[in-house]
Amino acid sequence: MDRETAREQLKGDLRSYVEQITRKSKGANMYVCPLCGSGEGHNGTGAFSIKDGTSWKCFSCNKGGDIFDLIGEYEGIADHTEQLKRAGELFGITIDSYRSSAREDFSPAPAYQKQDKTEQYTHNNIRTNTYTQQPQTAGADYTDFFLQAHSHIEETDYPQRRGLSKAVIDRFKLGYVAEWRHPKAPNAPASPRLIIPTAKGSYLARDTRAEIPEEQKAYSKSKVGTIQLFNRKALQEAKKPVFIVEGELDALSIIEVGGEAVALGSTTKAKALVELLKTQKPSQPLIIALDNDTAGQKASEELIESLKGLSIPYYRLNPCGEYKDANEALQKNREALSQAVADAEHIQEEAEQAQREA
Ligand SMILES: [Zn+2]
Repeated sequence: MDRETAREQLKGDLRSYVEQITRKSKGANMYVCPLCGSGEGHNGTGAFSIKDGTSWKCFSCNKGGDIFDLIGEYEGIADHTEQLKRAGELFGITIDSYRSSAREDFSPAPAYQKQDKTEQYTHNNIRTNTYTQQPQTAGADYTDFFLQAHSHIEETDYPQRRGLSKAVIDRFKLGYVAEWRHPKAPNAPASPRLIIPTAKGSYLARDTRAEIPEEQKAYSKSKVGTIQLFNRKALQEAKKPVFIVEGELDALSIIEVGGEAVALGSTTKAKALVELLKTQKPSQPLIIALDNDTAGQKASEELIESLKGLSIPYYRLNPCGEYKDANEALQKNREALSQAVADAEHIQEEAEQAQREA
């Protein structure tokens, strides 16, 4: 189908897409916002609505647009051609030849290389220079910020304290900002942060202090941008089973001992993972290892139901033993975590063996 016809047809699939990624909230034609979660609460009225079947708007996070903008925001795809291509995948439409223009994630752009390296690069001037020049629908691009933060990573020993090696720090471009502020709270007190990029337009900023003032504890793990699956490319590229975990640090911990892992970032993103898997089958079996609490249990069960429906091989396994998560396991008993992750590589063969013997 040619691009314009496809574009027009796909615009009409907005409601169907919205109903795949979120649910109704109180109020006629209102939904829980899939981007900011508005309407999630017990009696909460959603701020997300659809108009004329082809455009959407959220009065809480103040975003809006058509189906392509929503796919872009939800899946972290800034490029318009890629958004169209993804919409086509979701709704089974083949679109005539694409111009390939998506930039490799976080690869240095020529503009960055030309920049004066001594320039103080803070979040604020990224916002005033690069970020605000982006068209509204393209979303934020923090690539330059990530690279700058990465160049300061030696100023903290936080990743080492957490058991992470230089190889993992470099592979995922972990960064450090000594005086970080949330872009939406520029007047809040600054704090030192480990920056974990999750997509071009989103990241996690973890407070690196051993002692965090009581009133700031609620903000010690800040998400910027729409929450994205961390290391999602492992789903397609992994050569061994992929652990599905909740936290980015947990995924990094499993990778640290030689495994493959994708982090949801939040149990609410289990649905986003399922949507992705509908059109892109993983190259390897998945190992569900969400947190062992109520939210984690519930999300695991829902995820497993969906994987069964999609005939995607999965296993459920806790590689952390007595520890509360993979990062604690890495810090307290690296050997045991390493062994559990190595054993998981053969999980499929072992299951098949057991089945033959039964
Ligand atoms: Zn919203």
